[in-house]
Amino acid sequence: MGVVTVPGDAVPVTLGRPSPGPAAAPTEGPLVDTYGRVHTDLRISVTDRCNFRCVYCMPEEGVPFLPRQEILTFEEIARVARVARDLGVRSVRFTGGEPLLRHHVADLVAMVAEAGFDDLALTTNGTSLATLAPDLAGAGLRRVNISCDSLRPERFAAIRRRGDLAMVLAAMDAAEAAGLAPVKVNVVVMAGVNDDEVVDFAAFARDTGRLVRFIEFMPLDAAGRWQRDQVVSAADILGAIGARWPLEAVPPAPDDPAPAEVFRFADGAGSIGVVASVTRPFCGTCNRLRLTADGSVRNCLFSDDERSVRDVLRSGGSDDEVAAVLRQAVWGKLPGHGINDPGFLRPSRSMSMIGG
Ligand code: SAM
Ligand code: SF4
Repeated sequence: MGVVTVPGDAVPVTLGRPSPGPAAAPTEGPLVDTYGRVHTDLRISVTDRCNFRCVYCMPEEGVPFLPRQEILTFEEIARVARVARDLGVRSVRFTGGEPLLRHHVADLVAMVAEAGFDDLALTTNGTSLATLAPDLAGAGLRRVNISCDSLRPERFAAIRRRGDLAMVLAAMDAAEAAGLAPVKVNVVVMAGVNDDEVVDFAAFARDTGRLVRFIEFMPLDAAGRWQRDQVVSAADILGAIGARWPLEAVPPAPDDPAPAEVFRFADGAGSIGVVASVTRPFCGTCNRLRLTADGSVRNCLFSDDERSVRDVLRSGGSDDEVAAVLRQAVWGKLPGHGINDPGFLRPSRSMSMIGG
């Protein structure tokens, strides 16, 4: 249990220990944790189901899905979103599983949009986006992140196990045509799997103007096979790209603790990002909380600290009681995810079940 400095923290923090703050969360003011981090970003998982089986996320066969009655309804999700907005949440991202598999998801987007957020985004594997993009944009969605881990059709199919590269590239075009821009492209980089395509993806970013975000492989695969030597560090990714096209760091906006560090090509031909969750954790500025498809509030991808808001919703609880669950969840947040701590334990739920 070492003392480390988490980037963005003013003081060194100790990972892996419960928060030392008082047990009860404040009952007014913004959604703050015991380290003073104010939470303004809500990730909503709308389903744990997926039509892909990406190697870094889901097992190939035998995935147990949540029974339908355990999944929050649109009304329940929209109510939690409204309460979160009243507590200062300004941005919402829909995710999953594959969010576009949820029937009539554009209706949910419209219900949440009605609450009035500064930003509404969605992360998708691209399935159905070509069809749904106009409806989603009409419902109030602002932009999408589309996952794509290879520009080589056979490799794409091997990594994602299902799905097809041409469909995902068409989804990017459809999103832009519908005004869901800027399109960001999420690439999970794994050593010996697709790390030889980092420069190809940088060329793709330059050619298309899309922000390609290289994501370090995190220990959230359902198979539990994550090994540190499969992680390709942001430093190596930036080194490979920078050797071909010099890069300049783009300073983060003061009010935007987005996890991606953004770099522009020095010749002005676009930008790329790195999400260095493993090698450069950004926990010190984390402003996120998560709502799982079955109505648990989580304060971190890597923490098993979950509080059921569904129980409150389904037992006739008031908005104040819903707010109390959100407040207490945030209050219990640890200073860091602890991946690099010797005592790190993987969370019991994998990425598709939490909502990435
Ligand atoms: N199904 C949608 C998709 O694939 O974009 C949304 C959900 S997915 C869980 C959200 C993001 O998490 C995707 O960009 C995916 O590549 C990423 N992801 C999943 N498992 C990961 C892992 N073990 N490490 C890093 N990123 C991961
Ligand atoms: Fe499905 Fe997204 Fe996980 Fe791939 S990363 S298995 S598309 S939820």
